[in-house]
Amino acid sequence: MTKVTGTTKLLGVIGHPVEHSLSPMMHNAAIATLGLDYVYLPFAIAPENLEIAIAGFAAIGVTGFSVTIPHKQAIMPLLSEITPVAQAIGAVNTVTRKNHQWIGTNTDIEGFIAPLQTTYQQDWSQKVAVILGNGGAARAVVVGCYQLGFAEIYVVGRNEQRLRKFRDSWGSSPIAEKLQVYTWGSLAKLIPQANLLVNTTPIGMYPKVEDSPLSAAEMADLPQGAIAYDLIYIPQPTQFLQQAQKQGAIAIDGLEMLVQQGAAALKIWLQTENVPVDVMRQALCQHLGL
Ligand code: NAP
Repeated sequence: MTKVTGTTKLLGVIGHPVEHSLSPMMHNAAIATLGLDYVYLPFAIAPENLEIAIAGFAAIGVTGFSVTIPHKQAIMPLLSEITPVAQAIGAVNTVTRKNHQWIGTNTDIEGFIAPLQTTYQQDWSQKVAVILGNGGAARAVVVGCYQLGFAEIYVVGRNEQRLRKFRDSWGSSPIAEKLQVYTWGSLAKLIPQANLLVNTTPIGMYPKVEDSPLSAAEMADLPQGAIAYDLIYIPQPTQFLQQAQKQGAIAIDGLEMLVQQGAAALKIWLQTENVPVDVMRQALCQHLGL
């Protein structure tokens, strides 16, 4: 436990609710290991109090904070600067105080691509990514796949109108050139082409652990050696990943993304590359009983 003194600096996470957040566990473990004079706290802030809370954070000298549901978009007009990645995603998950101004960014992309850049690193330039779901996390996954250099990025959703809106939101950016959207009915055509198959829907998340976004028959068409990546981290593995592993696919779960997006945020706040990612991972695994 960090020793709180008169000089302790403050980090935290804002959300509503925020009790479920795993971030305090992960960040305080890292802070303790580094022996720094910081503490990371959860702040439950109702939407109507967001503006006044942020002004209060400035007044008391908060160093930085994570942003979770429902504030990831609402925070944007309250910031002085938003990085291009956060603009591309349309959401902020990390805010830092710099020169008396709030700077917002989004570390979900870094979190998502981390295992694909390290353990499973390869040349992605001829590869196809199929992304299930078109919500907030899917936006980070699309940018991540673009950054990795995927040849084609296919996003699959259940609602045609929301899919069109998702596609149109990229405008004439280079990402739009690689992106195509499809309804769920096209899965039979898309799955056999997938080198990377990502579940960004909440289907299969605890407690509905028997659910999967794909039927066994749909998953049977996944090419052997493909990577199946589920953003969900409880349970481990999800039904989706179990199905994929039966097909000979490589499975990646959402825990590493969670750890790596947190580590990326801590690097920004502390202005160091030296953050104990293993300690953060271990703190989460211990808490989740993994
Ligand atoms: P979101 O914005 O609500 O998006 C969820 C998407 O899933 C939407 O496109 C939604 O479709 C689709 N969906 C939901 N239920 C569906 C169903 N029964 N059939 C088909 N599609 C369905 O949520 P999010 O913020 O993107 O989060 C999605 C998941 O990613 C959650 O499980 C979250 O915990 C996880 N996540 C993990 C990390 C990590 O660090 N590991 C980070 C971010 C998110 P409609 O648009 O048609 O409603």
